[in-house]
Amino acid sequence: MPDFCNQASCRTVARATLCGMKRRKRILIGLGSLAAAFAVGAGLSFYADQATVPFLVTATPEDSIPVSQPEPVLSLEEAFPHVIAPRSTLFSTLRQLEIPAPTIHQIVEAAKPVQNLSRLHSGIRFQTVYGSEPTPQLSSIHFRFSAIESLQITKVDGSWVAKKITEQVDLKTVTFSGLVSSSLWESARRAEMDPNLISELADIFGWQVDFSREVRKGDRWRLTVERKLVKGEPIGWGAILAAEYENAGTIYQAALFRLNGEEMGYFDLEGKSLRRMFLKSPIRYGRITSGFNLGRFHPILKVRRPHVGVDYGAPIGTPVRAVGDGTVALAAWSGGGGNVIKIRHNSTYETAYKHLSGYAKNVKKGARVQQGQVIGYVGNTGLSTGPHLHFEFYQGGRFVDPLGRKFPSAEPVPSMHLGEFKESANSLLATLPPWQNPEVSAREMASDSSNDPESVSQ
Ligand SMILES: [Zn+2]
Repeated sequence: MPDFCNQASCRTVARATLCGMKRRKRILIGLGSLAAAFAVGAGLSFYADQATVPFLVTATPEDSIPVSQPEPVLSLEEAFPHVIAPRSTLFSTLRQLEIPAPTIHQIVEAAKPVQNLSRLHSGIRFQTVYGSEPTPQLSSIHFRFSAIESLQITKVDGSWVAKKITEQVDLKTVTFSGLVSSSLWESARRAEMDPNLISELADIFGWQVDFSREVRKGDRWRLTVERKLVKGEPIGWGAILAAEYENAGTIYQAALFRLNGEEMGYFDLEGKSLRRMFLKSPIRYGRITSGFNLGRFHPILKVRRPHVGVDYGAPIGTPVRAVGDGTVALAAWSGGGGNVIKIRHNSTYETAYKHLSGYAKNVKKGARVQQGQVIGYVGNTGLSTGPHLHFEFYQGGRFVDPLGRKFPSAEPVPSMHLGEFKESANSLLATLPPWQNPEVSAREMASDSSNDPESVSQ
């Protein structure tokens, strides 16, 4: 594994990283596969059309939220057969359907108070309805902007009337559970769950578990999530309401706390925030190529040359996140560090991000940044011989090793709401599905290719 950091404060040679490698146990699930898995998921837009994807739906006590009976379902193409083609306009599209130009103008005029139809972009689908007058004439046109928003323009007594339609969104709770055998991604795939949800789960527990390094075979998770439906058809996900993740035998719990309809974040059953003041890593799925080491002895220079930061190997352009809220103290070229960002979090803590290829928009000295916000991109600038991020953490102006440190938690549930929260958290956690049983799952995996229905318990 190459060590790229050539900066004066962290000069290393290839041999020095060996200890870093040894520290990372082999049983850890390869970060590479996780990152690749997410990349694949994003690239294929795997769940673009959720209607075609079989989801595992388990009945839960919360299942009783009324959902309107599904009507006979037409595909999108059947319901809205026409589409504004790329590089064409609504006018040219309607002219091709032999709708007279004056009629098109009347329709556009009628729609103006609710929607400027002349700005419709390509890809918008619509449906036309013809009346049965002596000669069939257009009587209605219905534009679909999204699963929720559409616009219907109808001819009533000789004039066109536009009506914006907003569909009612119903929420239904759905549960999933998974068991990790090779990667987190793979466990989501086996549970027939949208990979975006496993990514959200990793965000919720991102302070308790470092999902780039600590996921192990045998880890288990389960969650309850809201699914949004329009007329019984799934259109997307709401919030994860409750979740548990078992990492190497330790179970972490999370319940969403909503106060007056606003999401206040995820808390454990005691009302403690799962968030901490700092993220575990400034790179979502980076791998550590060189750790913090004050006593490192330079094998060639034969001097002590401490490495006072953590190096993350990642491709150029990988987003770098602020690990905590703060103010940008520096966003400029700084000698061996190349392009450097320094963030002041409060009077005690500061962080620095070095060798960047560039800065995110609006990240300049004095700017406020939030935890998790992308501030820049991995590069190879300054004294660096390969793409990586050199990350430094300061406490009271002194370098500290951020790895494995327990940082202060974010604010807990306010005591005046604690009783209310505990009640809601308990009922949310009660909706979780059963854990996947490792032995049963192993049998399922073994008999996956057979068609024996009894071997599938979920
Ligand atoms: Zn370094």
